[in-house]
Amino acid sequence: MPKLRNTISHMSNGTDDTEPPIAGQLRSAGLRATRARIAIGEALTEADAPMGLADLATLLEHQQLPRSTVFRAVSELTTAGILNRYEFEEGFARYEIANGARGHHHHFICRECRGVLDLDGLGELERHMGRAEASIETTHGHVVEGHRLDLFGLCSRCASDAKKAQDRNAGRNSDKRGNRQ
Ligand SMILES: [Zn+2]
Ligand SMILES: [Zn+2]
Repeated sequence: MPKLRNTISHMSNGTDDTEPPIAGQLRSAGLRATRARIAIGEALTEADAPMGLADLATLLEHQQLPRSTVFRAVSELTTAGILNRYEFEEGFARYEIANGARGHHHHFICRECRGVLDLDGLGELERHMGRAEASIETTHGHVVEGHRLDLFGLCSRCASDAKKAQDRNAGRNSDKRGNRQ
């Protein structure tokens, strides 16, 4: 196994400096570094939230990658564990690099604009979850391999828009009352 890895890295000598991280992940998964797989990996590395297939395919259109090629590559990368697939009750799935630079994290889904945001700084929650997982293992004997947690609500922008609209309505109502007097 180490020998095979040496051979491959020798073959790709000279490109190592510019090699995207996804290339290494593909190699470890035993997948060939095709143009589509690399492009998907790079696009999702740069994305600041998980992306749907349609958006991803549109983003990669200028690289002359047919949509069917993108769809197939995404499904292969998901099966290989390189991509995480999420369902946020939107009627379509979103994808994200499984072991990206952000590491383990959770998502906030805005019910108004349907934006999906990565959440950082949940260290306290993760420590609680770690203890809960350990206790599930001791109490029930289940082997916990991880957890997923989505938070829903209004993003800061939609929340402030909603508040402004509310204030406007309140103002209008008090005007009406004022006129009546
Ligand atoms: Zn929003
Ligand atoms: Zn977590």
